[in-house]
Amino acid sequence: MRLLLLAPPGAGKGTQGERLAALFGVRHIAAGELLRAQARTEGRLGREIAGYQARGDLVPDEIVFDVLTPAVVEAADRGGYILDGFPRTLPQATVAAELAARFDVTLDVAVYLFAPDEVLTRRLLARAGAGGRTDDTADVIRYRLRVFGETTGPLVGYYRERGILVAVDADQPPESVTADIQARLSGLSPAEHSR
Ligand code: ADP
Repeated sequence: MRLLLLAPPGAGKGTQGERLAALFGVRHIAAGELLRAQARTEGRLGREIAGYQARGDLVPDEIVFDVLTPAVVEAADRGGYILDGFPRTLPQATVAAELAARFDVTLDVAVYLFAPDEVLTRRLLARAGAGGRTDDTADVIRYRLRVFGETTGPLVGYYRERGILVAVDADQPPESVTADIQARLSGLSPAEHSR
């Protein structure tokens, strides 16, 4: 199974990514987590990544590919992955699709998790209250939602055109979201489902 989770901040990519990875027995690759791990390392690259993340700006594509590609290639080799937060821009999606086609590991499905901005903001502020991330402040949350709408949103149309988009309502309890995703996946063609 090679699945991409496409979702605005607060929609539950991380939670669903873990659950789906356990269900399908594949690796959960969280782009934001891998970049945060890199940001914690000493040196210029770490500081640069930390700066983009703290502001809510996307990390430049070149850095993202350097950090993410090895994990994706290794997981593809081992039977698949749940990608959470990568690709996140049209250029990332086109380069990733070219690479995937070359190695015959194209995406089976892109799951778009959607919820109203008020719900997303409320969840992220609650996470901040519980000692969450440095980018979970009201201003940065507003900015991240804008970046999602402007830069990542177009990927919804991109994957819909390719016929692999599944849209699921994320404004429900986590178990219901997972159940909806599973139900929609079982409706896919057997070839896509069994991989
Ligand atoms: P969220 O979706 O809540 O913003 P993530 O952990 O997915 O949380 O991402 C946090 C930050 O990591 C983003 O604001 C961005 O700075 C960086 N990031 C994650 N994935 C990508 C990506 N594919 N391309 C560029 N930057 C990314």
